[in-house]
Amino acid sequence: DAKRAGRGVVRLFDEAMDEGIRFRKRIEGGLAQAIDKRELSLAFQPIVERDELEIAGFEALLRWNTAEYGPISPAVFIPIAEESNLIHELGDWVLEHALEQVKGWPGQYVSINFSPRQFRRHNFVGHVVECAQRAGVEPGRVQIEITETAIFDDAERAAETLYKLRQMGFRIALDDFGTGYSSLYNIRKFALDALKIDRSFIDGMGRERESAAIVHSIIHLARALGLGVVAEGVETAAQVQALRMAGASHLQGYYLSRPVTPDVARRLADARFIGAETEAATGTVG
Ligand code: C2E
Ligand code: MG
Ligand code: MG
Ligand code: MG
Repeated sequence: DAKRAGRGVVRLFDEAMDEGIRFRKRIEGGLAQAIDKRELSLAFQPIVERDELEIAGFEALLRWNTAEYGPISPAVFIPIAEESNLIHELGDWVLEHALEQVKGWPGQYVSINFSPRQFRRHNFVGHVVECAQRAGVEPGRVQIEITETAIFDDAERAAETLYKLRQMGFRIALDDFGTGYSSLYNIRKFALDALKIDRSFIDGMGRERESAAIVHSIIHLARALGLGVVAEGVETAAQVQALRMAGASHLQGYYLSRPVTPDVARRLADARFIGAETEAATGTVG
């Protein structure tokens, strides 16, 4: 009967939950050892200027290759690390290794993701300054990527942190813009250099009027506030064209380049521009 069926559903639900918790515990346990086991690495994805496709910087993206399960996506393990203290250890590893790479490039910046917990950590500014100094990297070659969630829970404190970072010369980008709760109206209080438009909007641009309208209004208002605009997740020549017309200042996505190894990033950095093959493929450069 209905009651019994209901109990069955509840039991399945409990089992699914247990399964979820076991999975999380396994990830947590694995992550705790990932550094020692040398399972972490960084990939770098070019962020390019929209007209000449000159590489302005590279975003550092954490990779975790486990012996047991193969590669695990940061979209899976970062949220789990974020809920434990592991995020600090991982974040420091990322910072240290990203700073090491930027020194080998002729002038581009490295753009590093910081989770809300990292950003809210006591003396975050002092910590980042010290790491950059120790590595011998000028703050101007480091872009700090944070999400809307990191700054809106305690807006006043966040505004102060961003102000200090910017005073020190670091660049600040607001990541995944459009997916959180911030309006363009209230971001004006924050010391920012660029907005990164979330790839869900870029993806929808060619198909839905709404996405195209959102992209256009973000770009319009960002420019009015004097901010750069990075379009994330650019996958087609048509998107490149549309984003140029809309006035985005920078592009990032598989169409320009996938995230690459440190060696390849260094070669791209030396070449300074995204390759002739890509330009020929778009046929629209200039
Ligand atoms: P994100 O910061 O928004 O990074 C962009 C993500 O979009 C990356 O996924 C990148 O590989 C992917 N991407 C770039 N271009 C395209 C495209 O054209 N099409 C598609 N479909 N995807 C594209 P990834 O590397 O899997 O990272 C996922 C998320 O994990 C990141 O999103 C970021 O939130 C987080 N993450 C990655 N590395 C770190 C890190 O070192 N620290 C922290 N706190 N978070 C990180
Ligand atoms: Mg990012
Ligand atoms: Mg993003
Ligand atoms: Mg994202």
